[in-house]
This record gives sequence, C-alpha cells and structure tokens, in this order.
Amino acid sequence: MSEKITAPLISRVITDDQCIACGACLSACPPDNVRSTFNSFRGAFEAEIVSPESCVGCDKPCDSVCPSIAIDFVKARAAINRGNPDDLNPSRDGWIRSVQLGWSSNYRDDGVSSSGGVLRALVANSLKVNRPVVCLAVDPDDDKLKPRLLTGIEDLKFVPGSIYHSTSFAGAIDLIRMADRPVMLVAIPCQLAGILQYISTCEKNLSKNIEVIAGLICGWMFSHHSLSAFAKYKEISEPIIDARYRGGDRVGKLKLITQDKELLFDRRDFKSAQERIDYRSSFSTDYNRLRCRGCEDHLNMLADVAVGDAWLGRTSTKKISVVVARTSVGESMVRELESSGQINLEPSSFEDLIESQSRNLVFDTIARKINKQLKEAGKKTPQYTYNDSDGIVSVSFLDRLQFNVEMFFRRIVRKKHFKLYRVLMVVRHPLLLLRLLLDIISLRK
Ligand SMILES: Cc1cc2nc3c(=O)[nH]c(=O)nc-3n(C[C@H](O)[C@H](O)[C@H](O)COP(=O)(O)OP(=O)(O)OC[C@H]3O[C@@H](n4cnc5c(N)ncnc54)[C@H](O)[C@@H]3O)c2cc1C
Repeated sequence: MSEKITAPLISRVITDDQCIACGACLSACPPDNVRSTFNSFRGAFEAEIVSPESCVGCDKPCDSVCPSIAIDFVKARAAINRGNPDDLNPSRDGWIRSVQLGWSSNYRDDGVSSSGGVLRALVANSLKVNRPVVCLAVDPDDDKLKPRLLTGIEDLKFVPGSIYHSTSFAGAIDLIRMADRPVMLVAIPCQLAGILQYISTCEKNLSKNIEVIAGLICGWMFSHHSLSAFAKYKEISEPIIDARYRGGDRVGKLKLITQDKELLFDRRDFKSAQERIDYRSSFSTDYNRLRCRGCEDHLNMLADVAVGDAWLGRTSTKKISVVVARTSVGESMVRELESSGQINLEPSSFEDLIESQSRNLVFDTIARKINKQLKEAGKKTPQYTYNDSDGIVSVSFLDRLQFNVEMFFRRIVRKKHFKLYRVLMVVRHPLLLLRLLLDIISLRK
C-alpha cells in the first residue's frame, strides 16, 4: 500500500504569507526538497516545496525549525549560551542588560550606515580582530544581495546599509557551517530566529561556530511592490535593481538603482501634493510583509547586542543608534569598542527605547492584535514562547475595522493595481485630498 502524502505545515506558512525566507527549512529538509524563490504575487522571497510527492514518509524536520510555526526564545537562546547562567533568564521583553546611545565617528556619516553606524563599527572591529562575519552583503561579481562570509576589512565595502525590502536569507546556515573559525552573525530578528531554531533543533554542534550575534532592531520589511508602484508613479520604465531607503541623514533620500542610473528622491521636500501622494502610496504599511505585521520580536531578543535608530526628541538632529546589550558577551563587546575609541556611548534607558521605537513596537501590541485576528480566521501564525505575562491582547471593533481595511488594500497592492491604490489612498486620507485640491486651485490662478 502506498504511503499517504502529508503536506508539511510550512506549506501553510507559505500560502498564509508567513514565510520570511530565513532558510532554516532548506537546511533541515533531508532530500533538499525546499528552495528559496521569489513570489511575484507577494513581491517577496519565500520558501517553495519543490515536489510535494517527495514529502511521503518524511517526519517533517522543516516544520520543527520554522520560526513562523513556533519559536521558543528560551530554547533558542540556550542553544548558544556560552556558559553564563545570567544570560538564560529573560527579563520583561527579553534579555536586557543595558541600553545605551551610541555612534561611530568613522561610520555614522559614511553615506551607507542608516543610523549611528554602531553596527558597521561592530562588523569592522570583528574583521579587524580576524573574526569572520556572516551578514547580508553584495557580491562584487554579480551585484546580488545574499548572506556572505566576510573575512577581511576590505570586504566591508560590500556591506550595505539597511535593506528594507525583501531578500532571501537562505545560505547563512551553510556559511556558518563552512567557517574555519567562529564568526560574528549579523541578522534581523526573523532571520536569526530561523537560524537559531535550526541549530537548537537539528545541528547543536553549529553553535560553537558563532562567537557573537549582532542584531538589527526591525520594524518591518516592504514587499517589492512598493518599488514597482513608485516606479510606476514616477514613470521609470527600466527595472529597479535595488533601493536604498536612507541616505545622508535621519530620514534621507530614497535612492533607486537601475541598470545604468541612480535616481534620487527627496523624502521630505515634496514639491506638490502629487509627489506626497506618490510617496505615501508606495511606502505605506499595506506593502509590508504580513509576517512582519505580526512579528512579535522587533527588538531582536536573540541577539547579543541589538542596534536600532535612536529617534529621540533630545537627539533629533543627529544620527544616533540605540544599543541594547542583551548578554554578557554583547555587553563586553560594546564596552571593548568604547574603550578602544571605536564608538562613543552615553547612558540611556528602556524608556528611551520606547520613545525611539514606539510602544506598539516595543510591546508588539499591533502584531498581537493582527495575529489574534489571523488565528481566528484560521490562518497560520507563529506560536511565540517567552516569559511574558503581557501576551494577551483584546481586539476592539476599531482594530477589526483597521485590519480589514489593511487586508483590502494589501490585496489591491498584490494585484498590482497601483493607480487604483493611489486614488483610494487619497480617499482614505482627507488631508492628502485637501492638499491636492489646494494644488489644483493654485495652478488655476
Ligand atoms: C528591514 C529593516 C527594518 C528596520 N526597522 C527599524 C525599526 O523599526 N527601528 C529602528 O530603530 N531601526 C530599524 N532598522 C534600522 C536598523 O536597526 C539599523 O540598520 C541599525 O540601527 C544599524 O544601523 P547602522 O548605521 O549601525 O548600520 P547599517 O550600516 O545600517 O547596517 C548594516 C548591517 O546590517 C545588515 N543588514 C542590512 N539590512 C539587512 C537585512 N534586511 N537583513 C539582515 N541584515 C541586514 C548589513 O549586512 C550590515 O551588516 C531597520 C533595518 C532593516 C534592515
């Protein structure tokens, strides 16, 4: 009798738009039956099961590592603990040993780093002390963004600043395995969760190849549709190869890169309501990956040190990073950088973290509400396990309305009805409509 095919749960993760292309399932699948692919409907990289028939008789290790099915932060953290029991006991919102503000004199204003350049300084220091780095980087030969193993300081020039649109993280686990000495790993929260979940479940040995983890604080990632929409509104016909959302300063210019041009758009200096509308209708949260909207780990709980932008009232004119040391390893690495003069630090607090990131992000309020509604609708959402008594949220009528409006707009984006989206955006935001009317009146005069 032939064995019945039971599809792995990750197929639900993929169809329900919860995959983030972390690459954990690719490594876990014994017959290499999962690959990373670009889904043009969702405008994002995700996993794809090559041949569902090959899932016959398999005990589905892909499911056991997928951070969009379940992620146990305590287990994942324990897998890479370097012997300090203090690092195993999470406080509220994960492991926080200290919060500081920081900036690097070398990298803050290099035109690449998106905030105070602290993460870049950490990467540079790691390379200087001969510790390789696994991070997203550009291949100088084919100009593609992929996880790479950097081995020398000269490789730093191929390390991009923050990449806000979907990319595939697949391959990082292979690089950690291949490294001939322990590495620094740089990752956003979902990528890191996938890697550590894979290590704690399938290949515990690999933990010794990771010496330190530097994480990015991450609010969300756009789908590629945002770029296509912007190109359409701006009548850019050549395909956009890459985009830099930040450049020059705190908000910065949007740089679109085509085969032979770099196009710069100012993000603040809108000359007309039309431009403002184009911008708003290309970069709204309707373009975010659904998985990002339900992410309950924006502050990168599994990193040794997590770095983000310190958007504080008192520092508003400067590019400064907020630096969260989460483990003893992270804390000593940050102190080392300070004492050798590579970064400047000043004391900060959890309240500053809330001011810089917003309560919604720090306490994952919106994410939890979205996940609750998705669950009610029978969709797959991650099961997060952490020490947290504030996990329960109530969903109001207004929350449900907002969620349904967002899902409606997301469908329009995914069907690439960008012009319709722009019109509806104006209807949705009366202020935009008012500005447009004022522009039309002043043109007539
Ligand atoms: C998708 C995304 C969302 C973000 N959202 C927030 C937010 O909500 N709040 C906030 O404070 N900051 C956010 N950031 C900014 C991020 O925290 C900063 O990059 C960080 O402060 C480090 O800044 P830096 O100037 O020191 O280094 P940068 O030079 O900006 O960072 C470079 C390092 O980050 C790595 N990297 C860049 N993009 C990615 C990516 N997509 N995935 C994995 N690694 C990557 C590079 O390989 C490199 O090692 C986001 C960044 C990204 C990529």
